[in-house]
Amino acid sequence: MRLVLLSLAVALPLAAQTPATPPTPAPPGPPRPAATVARELRAPVADTGIFAPLALPTPDNIRRASGAPGSGYWQQRADYQIKATLDTAAKRLTGTVTLRYTNNSPDTLTRVWLQLDQNLFRKGSVGAYLNAQESRFGGADFDGGFEIASFTARLEAAARRAGTAAAGAAQPVKTRVDDTMMEATLPFALAPGRVVVFQIAYAFNIPEHGADRMGRDGSLYELAQWYPRMAVYDDVHGWNTLQYLGQGEFYLEYGDFEYEVTVPAGYIVAGTGVLQNPLEVLTATQRARLAQAVKSDTSIAIITAAELADGSARPKQAGTLTWRFKAQQVRDVAWAASPEYQWDASGWEGIVAQAYYRPAAAARWQEAARMSRFSIKEYSDRWLKYPYPQISAVEGPVSGMEYPMVAMEAGGGSREALFGVVTHEIGHMWYPMIVGSDERRYAWMDEGFNTFINIYSEEGYFQRDDSRRRRGEGSFALMADQAPTAQPIMTYANRYRTDNNLGVLAYVKPGMALYALRHKVLGPEVFDEAFREYTRRWAFKHPQPADFFRSMEDVSGRDLDWFWRGWFFTTAALDQAVESVTPGKGEVTVVLRNAGSMVMPVELTLTFADGSTRLLKYPVEIWYKGDRYTAVIPVDKAVTGVAVNADGTMPELPRGNNSWKAGN
Ligand SMILES: [Zn+2]
Repeated sequence: MRLVLLSLAVALPLAAQTPATPPTPAPPGPPRPAATVARELRAPVADTGIFAPLALPTPDNIRRASGAPGSGYWQQRADYQIKATLDTAAKRLTGTVTLRYTNNSPDTLTRVWLQLDQNLFRKGSVGAYLNAQESRFGGADFDGGFEIASFTARLEAAARRAGTAAAGAAQPVKTRVDDTMMEATLPFALAPGRVVVFQIAYAFNIPEHGADRMGRDGSLYELAQWYPRMAVYDDVHGWNTLQYLGQGEFYLEYGDFEYEVTVPAGYIVAGTGVLQNPLEVLTATQRARLAQAVKSDTSIAIITAAELADGSARPKQAGTLTWRFKAQQVRDVAWAASPEYQWDASGWEGIVAQAYYRPAAAARWQEAARMSRFSIKEYSDRWLKYPYPQISAVEGPVSGMEYPMVAMEAGGGSREALFGVVTHEIGHMWYPMIVGSDERRYAWMDEGFNTFINIYSEEGYFQRDDSRRRRGEGSFALMADQAPTAQPIMTYANRYRTDNNLGVLAYVKPGMALYALRHKVLGPEVFDEAFREYTRRWAFKHPQPADFFRSMEDVSGRDLDWFWRGWFFTTAALDQAVESVTPGKGEVTVVLRNAGSMVMPVELTLTFADGSTRLLKYPVEIWYKGDRYTAVIPVDKAVTGVAVNADGTMPELPRGNNSWKAGN
């Protein structure tokens, strides 16, 4: 394209153009001060507009400009062996954990950090100041918290090629507990590539109400946050030491787990991973039914209500039984145990979809295994194949909480409500259980992404079109941004100013943002390819927000900085308007206005005198030139109405400025 020379009159500000007379020659004498001859210059202008490049962290060989992990990407590894005993009389758990921690970082570590989430339930915990005892994330007024009986560290022998470094003897570790975090000073330096093995003996009293993450109800126990867990050490923040305060529960390392729980013999245990000793804890009938269920598309009862009632559900044994599980490539393990669990299962491509529930919840829950199976298949088909051998939906007091391979849900509600929570908690198997983002900072990277994928699961299960509902949610999210307490999506979890902000910023708004990106900006085909690629790239890794933003831009080939700025970094509102309409001969001139601070493409509907309509789509780039855009549209019949966002599917603030009608 050839260069067009601009005339000076256009390039300079108006004030400089006024002298029309030719300049008179300067009178002789000393030169006049520069200010009086130079034209008035405007103050410098920075590019602060919605389309300005977004300042993301500088890419490096760990996190690439494409949004993919680079050749230098590293991640720590934590493998666990846990042995625990549930004392149902004392309502107490006692355990030991052997934690094998591999330093894959390029740094020599002299201290490590562990998460002690149970400490939220100590009197005076930091979270207790934020969440009232009776509130959802409350529960601190309790004699809880981890009691660490012993803590030792042993340096594992280095790989053979390293030669010299031998295994060390176990040495006591000096610890410092800071609310829900524990610093452990290593008795030796942990060089890059070396492995330390921690041995920790611990116990805690089990809270009845565990901030809706875990707890107990009569004889039923839901055990999570039940062992000291390694904090994440990463390339972005070093040690991730943000406290557990009630929200933002997950940021954990991946590893393999072997764990065993000893419970009263009458209990049935559902947990993360694969049961290792079915011969010892299940009856022959149950084992036979399970083998059949794996191959069955429909649910098969493994334990029925009648068998619970007549005692045949449990092996004839007094005392306790130990259930052993193994799980690979997971960031956590959790389990539930009850003497009253009915148990259904079915299979999909070798994956076992299971539901455990008490007879009192059976009316709704007899469909839960089917709901689990549907959800696993839906998310696998659409985004990424489920990589784990099973999923267990478990009924109990926790109203809705996710752990690898375990989805905890409460019993009541409608069929629709139960599916909503089952498919939501199972959606978390992808975000954040497979794609291991940092929820303690960016709750939207799991709750929001999950809310988005739930949309298609719900539509699929109930065979319906939910787009009307989406319209309401989109407007709701943007309305919330108009509240005096509004915050952007990028706000860290726990730092929401209201409970409503948690719902909006972690769930609804990011969910709606992805929905709008898919349906209004990129189109389903391009969006899905990009979102799948993000999911594949960061499976079993730790993505940061920039890795997501960049991956979506990289795969779609689109500059989306304006979208991230509008939706994620600010509380900008979308408000599109029809400012004026001028019918002309064979055409109509429409002045469109972007009246808010967010930009989106425009969908413009013309209505003609004969009742017919025409939909015109304008790309977001029309707003490059400012907040008004003049569209001259050829028409061959009289225009009687013009409207933007006529069907309400663009998530926009409703302000009554969207349409024009002839004669008004
Ligand atoms: Zn969730």
